[in-house]
Amino acid sequence: MTSQETIFSKIIRREIPADIVYEDDLALAFRDINPQAPVHILVIPKQPIAKLADAESEDHKLMGHLLLTVKRVAEEAGLSNGYRVVINNGNDGGQTVDHLHLHILGGRFMKWPPG
Ligand code: 5GP
Repeated sequence: MTSQETIFSKIIRREIPADIVYEDDLALAFRDINPQAPVHILVIPKQPIAKLADAESEDHKLMGHLLLTVKRVAEEAGLSNGYRVVINNGNDGGQTVDHLHLHILGGRFMKWPPG
């Protein structure tokens, strides 16, 4: 299922500003506007999949690409001491923007379990 128009669609189209740190044909990465760690970057597909639960089997290459993009962006952000990757899915997952996004959180120790 594809998502409705979201703020992230506007960021992809450069209609609203964002601190973009990486872009290719399939993915975009930009700094979170409300960072929860010294480094907080969002990696999104340009294809507007609303949430992880809506990804289809034919999206498997894109989903793999997003994870490898996380690795690349984290390296470029200097997170050599580790980082956390989070996907909030749906209401109970705390998702607030209905366009799939992978949070990269780093620059401090991440506690477990999350709240
Ligand atoms: P979620 O809660 O859906 O997993 O994460 C959505 C994230 O998007 C939040 O961390 C929020 O701060 C971020 N966000 C929401 N609107 C904007 C925006 O306009 N620009 C940027 N850079 N981040 C945003």
